[in-house]
Amino acid sequence: MTEHHSPRAEVTIDLGALRHNVALLAGRASASGAETMAVVKADAYGHGAVPVARAAISAGATWLGTCSLAEALELRKAGITARLFSWLDTAEADFAGGIEKDVDLAVSSEAELARIAEAARRTGKRARVHLKIDTGLSRNGCPAYAWPQLVKAAAARSEVDVVAMWSHFACADEPGHPSIDRQAEQFAAAYTVAREEGLNPLRHIANSAATLTRPDLHFDLVRPGIAIYGLNPVPRKEDLRPVMSFRSSVVLTKRIEAGSSVSYGHTWTATRATNLALVPVGYADGVPRTLSGRMSVLVNGERRQVAGRVCMDQIVVDCGDDEPAAGSEVVLFGSGERGEPTATEWANTIGTIDYEIVTGMYRPRVARRYL
Ligand code: PLP
Repeated sequence: MTEHHSPRAEVTIDLGALRHNVALLAGRASASGAETMAVVKADAYGHGAVPVARAAISAGATWLGTCSLAEALELRKAGITARLFSWLDTAEADFAGGIEKDVDLAVSSEAELARIAEAARRTGKRARVHLKIDTGLSRNGCPAYAWPQLVKAAAARSEVDVVAMWSHFACADEPGHPSIDRQAEQFAAAYTVAREEGLNPLRHIANSAATLTRPDLHFDLVRPGIAIYGLNPVPRKEDLRPVMSFRSSVVLTKRIEAGSSVSYGHTWTATRATNLALVPVGYADGVPRTLSGRMSVLVNGERRQVAGRVCMDQIVVDCGDDEPAAGSEVVLFGSGERGEPTATEWANTIGTIDYEIVTGMYRPRVARRYL
């Protein structure tokens, strides 16, 4: 039995791959005359907001999108000067702080408009707002019946500048889905209303999938998220490079006899004598427990099955006759180039989306390294 003390687990973020992806998307956008807003909400989908924001700007993004003002203000605090847009804030959010720091704000209702106008009055600075029309996703956004009233109210407010109008697709990742054109038609109708009210807003509606497949819907600005992280949301091949990989190493190897069972519940039993490698990552580190029994990892370049259940802090790998030395590299997921699983493979296995896998990798005991 050999024992080894190595770093537990590490997520590697390949900023070169990120820059490649942003350049590809920004290139597509600029071909239709649009700018690119890199979506860096949720700590840049688990990749680290500040380093990702800097890399995205260096690769051609001119805007950054966040879900909350707190996220946007963190970027400003780090010295990032690019245009920032925050779109889902509670009534208690620090709108005044956002306005002072030049963060553009989303408005879905007259109540939200009033709150932002009041904050602008307090700061003595006009707020830049993006009016959101709900074109069919039925989440936030102003419903079509209330849109003319919202547009009129916003146009009349001296405390706000209506910079843009925007919306979000429900099914852009299914190219050809009839809802895409229906939403685009609603968006066009809402734009006509805004123009009739004397506004001349920028328009943005395209997420990654629409950026990749619907250049006719790029308008002035596209808002790709998942694709900048190298994960392809559409069924056709694109030259995207996965940015995140997840690694650990072998801490212990041991031989077991045929008939020995492994891990909690003894759900796996060796049918032959085999070498087991213990890897110190588990569901507390981002390995979904639902992968138990249907997961493999790359050990020393070879795909190996994980035996039995994923535990909180560890997994056990069936290595057959190989006996990986303590410290041997274990790749849990990565780009797939060396034959390792991808985040997308994990997601497909457990019935979720790769967005959830990478976003869930922000864990206090998993180190992050930037390349
Ligand atoms: N715009 C908004 C409003 C979003 O909520 C998101 C992500 O959910 C995006 C853009 C980016 O979407 P995607 O990651 O599918 O490109």
